[in-house]
Amino acid sequence: MQVIKKKILIISIFFIVIFMVSYKKEKMHDQIIIAESEVRNIPPSELEDKERCFLCGNGGLMGYYKQFDSIGIINLNTGQICDIGIFSYDEESGILLEPSKQLNHTITKSGKAASTTSVSTNQERRISNVELIFTEDNSPLHDEMAATLFCDECLIKIYEPKEYPGLYDYRFDMAFVDFTSREPYPVNEFYRGYFIRDYYLNFDYSSNDRIKVLVFYSPKYS
Ligand SMILES: [Zn+2]
Repeated sequence: MQVIKKKILIISIFFIVIFMVSYKKEKMHDQIIIAESEVRNIPPSELEDKERCFLCGNGGLMGYYKQFDSIGIINLNTGQICDIGIFSYDEESGILLEPSKQLNHTITKSGKAASTTSVSTNQERRISNVELIFTEDNSPLHDEMAATLFCDECLIKIYEPKEYPGLYDYRFDMAFVDFTSREPYPVNEFYRGYFIRDYYLNFDYSSNDRIKVLVFYSPKYS
């Protein structure tokens, strides 16, 4: 009987030690994440006038695109915007037009410091193939460039999206943007797919030189 009690005691101590070790590891992991978050400082905005912000203000072409019920891609280093164009609108009145019968293909390139965007849209099917083609140095977001384009509130949304604060290993220079809400959706490898309102985005990271995104209009049944 004494031997059994001794064995039970030894086994219990063993499990307590295992539990304490794994708990300590968990705590260390939390500390590492917090430390990384603190290291990655968000650059302060260099905009003198918030109205000139390329996301929430009228900087660049955002003032033009905000009238359309659509989504697009914004380059966070240059502020250049590319519309996905699943719908067409009359530029003067903003009224929705009949879908184009042709495939619309647009390539947007803005220098060595920014990714190239290729958008191929079939309006009759309400579907678009987007390719975000990397620069030679893998399309990094440049702090000093972003600071000249966006206000402090928008820089927080770009650098620390609330879903995964402090978890970024790498930031690309591209974000999807909802033209009606002006919300940015920075591209990163955490997401395989998500909705921006009635648009569903499916991400494919299998290529070395680009990210492929299938975008389709999929309104909720009501
Ligand atoms: Zn802003």
